[in-house]
Amino acid sequence: MGQAKSSNLGYPRIGEKREWKKLLEAHWSGKIDAAELESETKKLRLGYLKKQRDLQTELIPVGDFSLYDHVLDTAFTFGLVPQRFTGGANSAAHGGDCGCARGSHDEEPAASADGGVQAFAPDEKGVYGLDAYFAVARGTKAFAASPMTKWFDTNYHYIVPELQGLTPKLTFNRPLAFYLEAKEELGIDGKPVIVGPLTLLKLARGIEADRFDSLLDELIPLYAQVLKELSEAGAKWVQIDEPILVLETSDEDAARLRRIYEAFAAAVPELNILLQTYFESVSRYEEVVRLPVQAIGLDFVHDRGRNLAALERHGFPQDKILAAGVIDGRNIWRSDLQVKLDLLRRIEKAANAKELFVQPSSSLLHVPVTTRSEEALEAKIKNGLSFADEKLTEIAVLVKALNEGVDAAAAEIRESVDAVAALNASPERNDESVREALNKLDARRPKRLSAYAVRRDVQAKHRPLPLLPTTTIGSLPQTTEVRQARSKWKKGEWSEERYTEFLHAETERWIRIQEEIGIDVLVHGEFERNDMVEYFGEQLAGFATSAFAWVQSYGSRCVKPPILFGDVKLLSPMTVTESAYAQSLTDKPVKGMLTGPITIYNWSFVRDDLPRAEVQNQIALALRAEVSALEEAGIGMIQVDEPALREGLPLKREDWQAYLDDAVYAFRASTTSVRDETQIHTHMCYAEFGDIIQAISDLDADVISIEAARSHGDLVTAFEDGTYDKGIGLGVFDIHSPRLPDLSEIESIAKRALEVLDPAQFWINPDCGLKTRREEEVVPSLKTMVAAAAALREQF
Ligand code: GLN
Ligand code: ZN
Repeated sequence: MGQAKSSNLGYPRIGEKREWKKLLEAHWSGKIDAAELESETKKLRLGYLKKQRDLQTELIPVGDFSLYDHVLDTAFTFGLVPQRFTGGANSAAHGGDCGCARGSHDEEPAASADGGVQAFAPDEKGVYGLDAYFAVARGTKAFAASPMTKWFDTNYHYIVPELQGLTPKLTFNRPLAFYLEAKEELGIDGKPVIVGPLTLLKLARGIEADRFDSLLDELIPLYAQVLKELSEAGAKWVQIDEPILVLETSDEDAARLRRIYEAFAAAVPELNILLQTYFESVSRYEEVVRLPVQAIGLDFVHDRGRNLAALERHGFPQDKILAAGVIDGRNIWRSDLQVKLDLLRRIEKAANAKELFVQPSSSLLHVPVTTRSEEALEAKIKNGLSFADEKLTEIAVLVKALNEGVDAAAAEIRESVDAVAALNASPERNDESVREALNKLDARRPKRLSAYAVRRDVQAKHRPLPLLPTTTIGSLPQTTEVRQARSKWKKGEWSEERYTEFLHAETERWIRIQEEIGIDVLVHGEFERNDMVEYFGEQLAGFATSAFAWVQSYGSRCVKPPILFGDVKLLSPMTVTESAYAQSLTDKPVKGMLTGPITIYNWSFVRDDLPRAEVQNQIALALRAEVSALEEAGIGMIQVDEPALREGLPLKREDWQAYLDDAVYAFRASTTSVRDETQIHTHMCYAEFGDIIQAISDLDADVISIEAARSHGDLVTAFEDGTYDKGIGLGVFDIHSPRLPDLSEIESIAKRALEVLDPAQFWINPDCGLKTRREEEVVPSLKTMVAAAAALREQF
């Protein structure tokens, strides 16, 4: 029997009760100074380390802790601070790719730090301070933040390094500082974690094409210096994260990879390097496992079986340790430890391994901290969950079983098998009516009664609209008053009647406002919704709501996704009251407003006992029933939002088609039950759509609205070839900016689109929902938009 060790790749930063978030925000709003932030977060950090030790993690990550983001930390380690913050002259567009109005994010106070040129210069040792760090992450009055984007296919966002004109230098050996801290304060001989050079450069922007290799050559010795100092301080293991290796890796990058790791091996032969990958199977298995490092970390959960297949096919070098990620680092479910033990044995056998590290499939950053405080959840659900702490316990049990024999861990294994079995056997996971409905689904894509061209004419006759009709995306300002009303109702301070009365009053007020402005297709405003996924999760069968299952989304912003644990079913109509009420107030059409199956899936913690497509289709059938109920209630236009369609794409292109086919299927299962005259809309936030236009068209929605203000030209080009023949509105003003759009600006944005799109198919709408904007901004913006539409109608 081989020797096994428990290892962790990273621990959540936010704290059991989001203490970390609160400290950061207290600092940003000036309530605590940098020294207090440092001392308080140090307590948290040491607490996390102690906890991991108590949970019997042998290889404890250090330096994974961050005050914002680990990619930003790595950039700062190497002095890669965008020039505009340090006196350089370049400037970048503001903001992140995650700019949608998705509201399940908790609040982050606005950046307020001042600071002109040179304000963030390093100290005499060349170390950039905390102000510079937060300035890059969040922006200042004078400078836009660095962009932010999704960390692979997770819902975590990292700060994109902007390397224009920069030369790396080792300003601060951050991993060393954290290594020493753990050792001195707690006697923990930790495993420093650092983002690898290939991943760092590949994720960066602003590298001139011919500069990539010279930058790499400048970085390699700096990394080697970090490793050398770690080794001299006594570190035995270092984890270098190269998740980029799960994406397609070119020959050029494979050569760079060898260059990097050969250089490290030569510079610090005595140090053990764990080359860590995650989120998918490694793309060039045979080459990667042959790199001159001491351990290779592979994800055996999200690899679609490919890492295991490669391992069984090619074996594993005998001079290395295999670090096996077998406990899901991205989902919240407890594992059947018998199944995991069998998997580990299979891995051990295929690798002919003398030594294994047993670890989560990725950093535990992507899961909440502990199930302990989830007191309100039913026992069978709570017992079926495993957050970070529980996952580390699972790993310890597996290690015990491997090292001491299965009898030594028999009780814990049995308990896990029973817990998973109990959840699987629960009535919520075995709803016959859901099964039957799924069985009835056709293998072919569900279809509307008639083709689009026919529907278009029927709809135009049934509900004539002007050329270039105007509408909005759904939500209207979520004022403090609106949020307070919801909270009073949730706490039981307000009766159902009082709350409904309040919602109706707000909807009526806004129906009148929209009518006065002269919008053609109205919305009820979504005042009843906290968040576009949670709202549905709270009402559908199969979902549970946690109390503290927060995960970091970006910076101090956290999300608490609903838990989709059982079969999904519509219990009673979810949106009909609000929509029907709004429609009863006006002769103009009011759009019904739903969140689509892909988005509900992607933004929830989803059961892992069923294939994705099956869960999506369950959601779809529930929505289909809701769509019918809306139609029945006289709602003639129904919008089914899918902002998460693009972001859900698998990491490997070879998996895209299957994903898109399933997505199209589920969307159509949700929306095709309606009559020809009922108009189906959909909405997507900003993304690169060029390569998925066909799938978007296949959704067969009558009208799509897409966020476009931030990249208008590109998006229009994507639709240039004319494949998209259905209704389309490319957002004509940016709802993320408090700046009011002016008429000529809206006109010219629309005209750019109309060079490519037929005026008969074009809609005029803002980029996204207006929930984050104030009434004083929304009203004039929409007035301008309507005026622009009127002016355009004269011209086309
Ligand atoms: N209907 C939603 C809203 O307006 C859409 C939000 C989104 O796509 N993120 O808020
Ligand atoms: Zn949007």
